[in-house]
Order: sequence, then structure tokens, then C-alpha cells
Amino acid sequence: MNRVAIDQDRCKACRLCIGACRLNLLALGQSLNAKGYHPVEITDRARCVACAQCAAMCPEGAIAVYRGVKRTSA
Ligand code: SF4
Ligand code: SF4
Repeated sequence: MNRVAIDQDRCKACRLCIGACRLNLLALGQSLNAKGYHPVEITDRARCVACAQCAAMCPEGAIAVYRGVKRTSA
């Protein structure tokens, strides 16, 4: 399974990654981070193809993408 990890406290809610995801899998969340922004969340992990376009676009280096991560629990 592919995985996108978003560092919630680095995110400044600029939305660049949201526009970069051609599958529209990213959206601003409801929570507030330490900087007072609503950080981005992935809406459907199962559909992520690990293209890393979101990570490439992020000026804060807040996104890491992992391809083919094995599940550790059922
Ligand atoms: S890795 Fe690609 S498909 Fe997955 S959330 Fe980022 S831009 Fe979307
Ligand atoms: S590009 Fe980075 S800083 Fe901007 S909304 Fe996405 S994760 Fe947050």
C-alpha cells in the first residue's frame, strides 16, 4: 500500500499540493496546527498512486511519499 505522510505542524495550508494531485486526494482538514493553519489531509489513502507530485510541490517539505508500504496489521 502506498502512503503519504504529512507533517501537520509544517503545513501552512497554501493548497499547492491540493492542486498538484491529479486524483484530488488531498484537502484541508478541520484540525488546527501549532501555527494556526488547517493542515492538509489525504482523503482516500487507498487510491494514492505514490506519484509524489504533492511532495514535489510543497514549499515546506511537509510531505513524504512511500511506495508499496506493507501493512503491519489486519
Ligand atoms: S502521491 Fe500523487 S496520488 Fe498520492 S496524494 Fe500525492 S499527488 Fe496524490
Ligand atoms: S503544499 Fe505543503 S504547506 Fe502547502 S498545503 Fe500542501 S502540505 Fe501544506
